[in-house]
Order: sequence, then structure tokens, then C-alpha cells
Amino acid sequence: MKLTIIGTGYVGLVTGTCFAEVGHQVICVDKDPEKIKLLLEGGMPIYEPGLDELVRKNVNAGRLQFTTSTGEGVERSDIIFIAVPTPPQPDGSVDLSFIETVSREIASSMTAYKIIVDKSTVPVKTGEKVAETINRYCKAKVDFDVVSNPEFLREGFAVGDFMKPDRVVVGVASQRPVQAMKDVYTPYNAPIVVTDINSAELIKHAANSFLALKISYINAVSVLCELSGANVQEVAAGMGMDTRIGRQFLDASLGFGGSCFPKDLSAFIKISEQLGYEFGLLKEVQKINATQMDRFVKKISETMWVLKGKKLGILGLAFKQNTDDVRMSPAIELCQRLQQEGVILRVHDPRAMDKAKAVLTDVTYVSDMNEVAEGCDALVIATEWPEFKQLDLERARKNLTHPILFDGRNLFNVDEMEKLGFLYKSIGRGQGA
Ligand code: NAD
Repeated sequence: MKLTIIGTGYVGLVTGTCFAEVGHQVICVDKDPEKIKLLLEGGMPIYEPGLDELVRKNVNAGRLQFTTSTGEGVERSDIIFIAVPTPPQPDGSVDLSFIETVSREIASSMTAYKIIVDKSTVPVKTGEKVAETINRYCKAKVDFDVVSNPEFLREGFAVGDFMKPDRVVVGVASQRPVQAMKDVYTPYNAPIVVTDINSAELIKHAANSFLALKISYINAVSVLCELSGANVQEVAAGMGMDTRIGRQFLDASLGFGGSCFPKDLSAFIKISEQLGYEFGLLKEVQKINATQMDRFVKKISETMWVLKGKKLGILGLAFKQNTDDVRMSPAIELCQRLQQEGVILRVHDPRAMDKAKAVLTDVTYVSDMNEVAEGCDALVIATEWPEFKQLDLERARKNLTHPILFDGRNLFNVDEMEKLGFLYKSIGRGQGA
């Protein structure tokens, strides 16, 4: 099938590439000429495991192309996917200006029937607005259908998630686009949930908010563990074996971040408010998340006593493992809060240092994780990169002026760290953890 993706970012590039991988003919559009130039030259604008080989393979096979022209994208395909940003506004509501702009651009280029599919995460009722906008700006007055097809991939596992989705959600206003959407997704062998557009849009916000809720829940339990002397990992394991609950998203930490959870949560709270419902539960989820970061900073400051002038090594800048994405990263927030207290930072991330440089200045970027601790008063783990488990702890202990390690991701075993001579502070594992 001929498919166009407008917006070639984390979602758009993965979507386009994985569509090409199953044999569709795909053209990815982006308004950023640098991004398209880089892709046309064989480069990659983002780090996503396995994506670069897949892009190369499908470009070489002639199934994946790139352009800056929305007009070309609209003309060449029957189905147009929108994957542009939907960032938060200061009051938590969603900035839909990118969606509106793309809707107008698509409308002005349409000369024949098209299916316009929204893959961006948008508030319920956005599909109706997109249809209205296209009607208004389409001079040719051709027929079209708007479809909602929210994306559930996780950065860091995006290719696997896209190729083997748990489900594909397709929201439609009529039966006309259903078969075409099924044809697009049949190669992935996943259940296809066909519903109305409003329900499809709600599914995405409801799902992401629920996952954020699960994280805040275990983080709140981790506080109880610290107060009572229990171990949150044991509690999570015991809870997670119940199939009604499941073990995923029950890892206590310094809090969630990234470009999706915080923004989707505030959006859902705002959407509810606009619809006339006060979603207090989700406000508490936000509050617990903010408190979790406060508690971690407090843990560091209480242990170090005076923070001003102390030197700390930070392992991890990405908002989670396996990605170079630092948008709304808890690790970056932690660094900035420590800087405000006058802490001097040496930082390392396996993939995210280039992107971090744009938002985190006045720190020393260290390319080898084992050199971060040199001359530092303490070491902090802020992102759950699996390679940090291979840290040379003996060397870190010798390099630190005092062997203190704050672990915001519970990567190490408490007893082993103590045996190695560390003062080891993690999340929710025993009193004074
Ligand atoms: P992104 O910022 O990585 O990519 C968006 C791209 O759209 C950018 O490259 C930008 O240049 C381009 N763009 C903006 N306006 C354009 C226009 N008028 N024409 C062409 N290109 C345009 O964003 P993302 O992370 O891919 O997120 C996109 C959407 O998908 C958001 O709504 C997000 O909430 C949702 N989403 C993201 C993830 C994720 O893990 N990143 C997962 C599921 C859903």
C-alpha cells in the first residue's frame, strides 16, 4: 500500500520504517530540512535500537523515501498518517497547533479521496476538529475520512513494539476506511480494535495515565517500605505475580519522565476538567511523582550535609534506558536541581550526551562511565541503563573521595554494596534506604 507519514520523529520514523519493512511503499515527510537531509545521506536523527539497519534496508529496497514536501506526500499516497508533536502548554492542556497546521497543509494538497490517520496523541474530540479543518481548507472539495490510530510504542523498544503490537486501535466515523486500515496492519498479526474516534483517542490518554499511575503507586509503596523497613522489590515481585496486576511498571525509582507520561497525564487531567470532571486521582499521581524527586534530592542533601561546592558523578541523562531522548528526563531535572544547590557535576550517558548538551550546561561530560567517579564526593545513578550494572565498583570506590552511592533506579544489591564498603542509598529498600 502507498503510505505517507507526516512528522519523521521518534514515532513517525519508526512507523514509516516498520510499514516499509512489511512491504508497504512509504514516504516520510518532515518540515525540518536538516533531518530530511541527514536521512537522505544515510544518517540517523535519533537513536533507537535496530532502527538504523531497518531504515537502510528499506531505503535500499526502494520502499522508504524522505521529503520535506507535504504536498508530495499527500499526492503520492492514499493514506496519510500524522505523527507531529502535541506538546503541553503551560496550563497542562495540549498545544494542537502542529495538528492544525498539518490538517490545513493536507487539505490544501488533496485532489482525490484520502484517509487521514492521526497517530499523534491528541485529546478526545480532536478527530472532529481535524475533519472540520480539512473540510474548510480543502479547495478541491474531495471526499476523505479521518481515522484515529494512536501509537503505543515505547522508545528504546520501538521497533519490537511496532512489529509486535499488543493491539492496534483504529477509531473511525464510518465503515469506509476500515478495510484499508486492516490491510495496513494485517502483516503484524495483532488484534485490531475498531471503535469510534472519540473512544480511540481516549484509549491512548487513559492507557498512558494508567501506566503513570502504576509507577506512582509503587513509588508511594516505596515510601512505606522505607518507613517500615520493608523492601519494595520484594513487595513488587509479590504483587506482580498476581496476573490481575502484572509485574511491569512496578519499579520504584526517582520518578517517571519523558516526552509522553508527564504531558499525557496533565493533558488527561485538563481534558477531564474541560469535560466537567475533576480527575483527582491523576492529580495525586502527579503529586507523588514530584514528591519522589524531592525525596531523592533530600536523601542526597541529608547524607552530604552541605551540597554547595560538593562534586557529584551522575550516571544517566536519558529519561530511561535504551534511548537518547532527554525530553522531561528526571535525570536532567535532578542535575539541574543539584546545580541550583551549588553542586559541581561530572556526567555520563551511553547515548544521550549529545542531546543533553543542549539542555544541561556547566557540567563535565565524561565518555567512560568508569571515569565519572574520579574526584567526586558521591556517585548517583539516575537512569536504568543495563550497562551501569557492569560498573567497575571497586574502581568507583577508590575514585570517590568517600564511597557513597545514591541509586535512583535500584540497580544494585543492598547487601553486596555494603560488603564492598559503600554507603549505599536506594529507593524503598529498608529503613533509611
Ligand atoms: P518528535 O518531536 O520526535 O517528532 C515530530 C516530528 O514532526 C519532528 O521531526 C518535527 O520536525 C515534525 N513536524 C512538526 N510539524 C510538522 C509539519 N507541519 N510537517 C511535517 N513535519 C512536522 O515527536 P514524537 O516523539 O515522534 O511524537 C509525535 C507524537 O506521537 C506526539 O503526539 C507524541 O505524544 C506521540 N507519541 C510519542 C511516543 C514516543 O515514545 N515518543 C509514543 C507514542 C505516541
